[in-house]
Amino acid sequence: MTDTRDCVHDWQRVGVSPDVVHVLDFELDLTDAVVSCARCEALALLHMLGWRTSGSRVFGVSRLPADGVHTFLRNMASEFCDLTRKRDEAEMLVSLAEPAMGISSMRVNPLVTVDYRPLDNGTGPGPLGMTAGHRSWRDRNDSDYWLTLFEAGAF
Ligand SMILES: [Zn+2]
Repeated sequence: MTDTRDCVHDWQRVGVSPDVVHVLDFELDLTDAVVSCARCEALALLHMLGWRTSGSRVFGVSRLPADGVHTFLRNMASEFCDLTRKRDEAEMLVSLAEPAMGISSMRVNPLVTVDYRPLDNGTGPGPLGMTAGHRSWRDRNDSDYWLTLFEAGAF
């Protein structure tokens, strides 16, 4: 196993498919998911920023702590009487995500990395850096901003 600090993760390597550990949200295909790197077992949150009709989607990528993911998966496998519990579990998991380390463009079905650009300490360019929480794509009004910046190579 590669040391996680030295690894170029699967979501950074063009043509490679990160393992999907858990799908958190889905619209025609996954929009938010926990993925892992097969080489070092690092875990990350993919968090959709926007999509193109061509089929590619652009995701923020944030590291997730392994213990938090394991607790989440164990709790999600339990049967809850309270239907809001699973949503709460997902919100808790997302709250554990670090600021985005980079942005990946990926094809979906199957998920394959097309491009990856690192962000500087998660601050990102412009006024809409992703350190201030990880908003759902359902609540975003800045998809065009991210897609345009990404495609212009502004990172
Ligand atoms: Zn890795």
